[in-house]
Amino acid sequence: MSSSPLFYQAGPAMPEVSHGRGVYLWDTDGKEYLDGCSGAISCNLGHHHDGIRDAMLAQLDRVAFTYRTQFENAPAMALAEELVTMTNRDLEKVFFVSSGSESVESAIKLARQYFVARGESHRRHFVSLRPSYHGSTLGALGVTGYQPLEAPFADITQASIKVPGPDFYRHTEGDDDAHIRKVLRETRERIDSAGSESIIAVVLEPVGGASTGARMVSQAYLEGIRKLCDEIGCLLIFDEVLSGVGRTGTWFAYQHWGVAPDLLTTAKGLGAGYYPVGALLCREDIVDTVMANGGFQHGHTYAGNPLACATGLAAVEAIRNEKLLDNVVARGQQVREGLEALKARYDFVGDVRGIGLLWGVELVMDPATRSPFPAEANLFASVTALAKEEGLLIYPRRTLDGLAGDHFLISPPLNISEQEITILLERLTRALQRLESEVVAPLAA
Ligand code: PMP
Repeated sequence: MSSSPLFYQAGPAMPEVSHGRGVYLWDTDGKEYLDGCSGAISCNLGHHHDGIRDAMLAQLDRVAFTYRTQFENAPAMALAEELVTMTNRDLEKVFFVSSGSESVESAIKLARQYFVARGESHRRHFVSLRPSYHGSTLGALGVTGYQPLEAPFADITQASIKVPGPDFYRHTEGDDDAHIRKVLRETRERIDSAGSESIIAVVLEPVGGASTGARMVSQAYLEGIRKLCDEIGCLLIFDEVLSGVGRTGTWFAYQHWGVAPDLLTTAKGLGAGYYPVGALLCREDIVDTVMANGGFQHGHTYAGNPLACATGLAAVEAIRNEKLLDNVVARGQQVREGLEALKARYDFVGDVRGIGLLWGVELVMDPATRSPFPAEANLFASVTALAKEEGLLIYPRRTLDGLAGDHFLISPPLNISEQEITILLERLTRALQRLESEVVAPLAA
């Protein structure tokens, strides 16, 4: 038999999925997996959610697709209203897309068009963090700070100005305040040397995702960045593709700090894994300016179709009706305690960070120096494989930019129960126990 025509990335052979219920998935051999990372931090309501299924079927029975320039559709209007309400009207305009990359791409283009419309075409640079991940289309890749993804396209992307973000685990400034002052100073210096009048926007994730292992910002950092953007007259874009729609215990992660952006991107959890739907949210005056000057020169065929928006609406309603923001806070505390206990038990668990149900665990060779394992050891792959054998899915990454080592995300569905978190932690403990005896100890020998 010839091999499958499908191609993704090289990796170990995968089981074939059979079905899913709640936080569990089963493969065709009958093995059960607890989905500890919601797929790609997207299945935020687990698998086979009745409310979403019913809403999708009801919409399918009416109409699945209409084109956004031919018809208004009720689910799109209702979901747009919901999203604006979720920001407490910090942002009042919504542009639908079908993926995270599309939402970032849309933000980049809207921000540029805003300045072109204002006669400021000299603004042509974006500023973003290294490491970071903002998507795989060329515009989104341009603001991404993750070397292996950037390298093949370096000559054909419009790369942003990359600046360091806060790193509360590895900084050497002694205290966090001094670290933030240094990061903000460096950011300002980089912007000034490029010419602050050339900047369109600063783009960042309030809570990092896969590329940083849930690296956090702080109040002082976000306030400092907001102030900087206001001073130089550029826009602030928060990428909440991963951290939005309840993942961190508030509708959007930025609400933990009360520092609002001018544009915000979201996707993943909005469709809850049932249908691709994302959104760009923005300040009304930005949209008004662009619309008064020829309109937004941008769009994607599937944007805002009735089935996509009915799915997103059902996901948002489920989070509200099932009081899942409260659940995220309570279960997040349970995850934090469990991960902290693992850090106390295993030297190679260097850092545990996160908020709500978005947690990163960083693995280090030496907790004193915080030095990462050698890249060839592929710790991130080993821990993922061992967890999978133990019936737990986690989301791994190795940052190769010399900034951080192997890490993985624990980000289960927002409706996970207390007992299921206990099972998640038990399986993770067994995986780390095996990592120690089967991988870490032989490496040290
Ligand atoms: N931004 C962030 C912060 C993300 O985490 C991702 C996906 N991991 C994207 C953008 C791109 O989203 P998508 O894969 O849906 O295109």
